[in-house]
Order: sequence, then C-alpha cells, then structure tokens
Amino acid sequence: MNRKTLKPLKPCPFCGSKARFIAATHNSSRDGVGFDFEICCTGCDMQLPERYKIEFCLDRDGNIEFTRDDRELAVSEWNRRR
Ligand SMILES: [Zn+2]
Repeated sequence: MNRKTLKPLKPCPFCGSKARFIAATHNSSRDGVGFDFEICCTGCDMQLPERYKIEFCLDRDGNIEFTRDDRELAVSEWNRRR
C-alpha cells in the first residue's frame, strides 16, 4: 500500500486562516471509487480554481491501491499562492 505523507497546507494567503480539503463530489463503480476535491480556506472561503481527483480501488491482495492521486499537486498549488 502506497501510503503517502502529505505536506501540511499553509495558511490562507489572504486571511491567514487554516485551509482544508473538501470533497466536492464522489463517484464509484465496480472498479473503484473516487472523490473530486477542492482546497478551501476555512476563514474567507477562498479556494483553488481547479478541482482535483483522487481515485482508488481494492487490489487483488486486498490493499487499497491509488489509481489517481492529485493530493500532492493540490497541496503544492495551494502552498504556492502567497
Ligand atoms: Zn482565507
């Protein structure tokens, strides 16, 4: 299982509040499940313009396998906004 440690989200560049991940929509099929997510400020509701995806499935050995994981991309794009 490829478990990743994500870098923490930096505070909002506008108001300094904490940022968080928000699952916007989810989808599932027999092959896997996924979320579209956004990163949003908890103070002023500023959010990244893009939506990102994470998708995973159950592999043959019973592990969760990520087939798509935009979390690091989303964190780095959020943290670049200063
Ligand atoms: Zn803010």
